[in-house]
Amino acid sequence: MNGPFKVLALGGDHIGPEVVASGLEVLRQAANQFDVAVDIGEDLLGGASWDVHGTFCTDAVVAKARAADAILVGAVGGPEWDDIRIDRPITETDGLTRLRIELDVYNALRPVRAWSALLPQTPYRPEVVEGADLLVVRENSGGIYYGEPRGREVLNDGQVRAFEISEYRTAEIERIARCAFEAARGRRGYVTSLDKSNVMESGKLWRETVARIGHDEYPDIELNHLLMDYALFAVARAPRDFDILLADNLFGDLISDLIAVVSGSLGMLPSATLPAAARVGHPVKGGLYEPTHGSAPDISGRGIANPIGAILSVAMMFEHGFGHLHAARAIERAVDNVLSAGLLPPDLGGVASTASITQSVLSGLRPNT
Ligand code: NAD
Ligand code: MN
Repeated sequence: MNGPFKVLALGGDHIGPEVVASGLEVLRQAANQFDVAVDIGEDLLGGASWDVHGTFCTDAVVAKARAADAILVGAVGGPEWDDIRIDRPITETDGLTRLRIELDVYNALRPVRAWSALLPQTPYRPEVVEGADLLVVRENSGGIYYGEPRGREVLNDGQVRAFEISEYRTAEIERIARCAFEAARGRRGYVTSLDKSNVMESGKLWRETVARIGHDEYPDIELNHLLMDYALFAVARAPRDFDILLADNLFGDLISDLIAVVSGSLGMLPSATLPAAARVGHPVKGGLYEPTHGSAPDISGRGIANPIGAILSVAMMFEHGFGHLHAARAIERAVDNVLSAGLLPPDLGGVASTASITQSVLSGLRPNT
């Protein structure tokens, strides 16, 4: 028996709780089947927390998250809360951002693969995309989203000037570069680092630092650098040519949504955001696991949200949070089988409900079925 592992589940808003419920069913069954002990607690985040506590993330949730081995998050936000403007830092106006900063989760891993059954849902010809399997390693706690100073000012001529700063320190780049190289050792050993070193100072430091870490510490890994604009074209054109895409916070945000096209729907994508590098066989405590989609208010409450991004996030939790590869691969296989059987939710052109997809994944997980 492994564990017990403490899991904190934070559904969030709209379809967040719907897909987290599916993820938890899969978590319980896989834990049971692979003899992993889990102790699951649940709490509120985002608008759901605001409505009860008047804050988007309570101190109690931060404390529970710090004590947890892994945190499963749905998604937060919705039009109900868009107009709540507190004149305070982003950590107090966005519960998920507060959690990310408090946990110092800087290593965002976003895998994307082409699922054979979903090739017709992509805009690609099968021979271009079949077998594509990419991992974006995104720096998630620095860069232009957090650089100081930032703000607005009114200029003498009456115009408004709004600004932020793109900044990186050597140590921030070194640690995320190591995350990408470590991940490469568990995959095909090929890292492509993205930057705009032709025009940005932070991009120059990014490129030279990644190159140095690669050369000094990971000579076994093949490293290439691409300018970000050309990379968007190259990755979109031939996604199979790439394995790991290493990028800063902004560029990683952009490239992850672009390559989501490879998997057929935003509802398919999982993520793990960790406070350390993921090494095969070394569980990382305190990671956030969440589907990359938002709270989809347009379809909430109808039982049709695609739960696969959340279910695959649970697979990532088994791999990175519990160090249990077998369970992770079994969940991924069960998902693959459900898709191959043609059971598809509306975002993938089918009519299957959240519940029926979840039940099929559960029965696919059971041995001898
Ligand atoms: P979204 O991802 O919620 O939705 C975009 C489109 O994709 C919608 O048409 C939606 O129905 C569909 N979609 C998304 N996930 C789906 C799923 N699992 N199954 C089926 N269809 C799915 O993005 P948005 O509309 O830009 O944002 C909606 C709200 O979510 C906003 O309040 C936004 O701030 C928030 N948001 C939260 C997160 C997060 O919590 N991590 C991320 C992005 C957006
Ligand atoms: Mn984004």
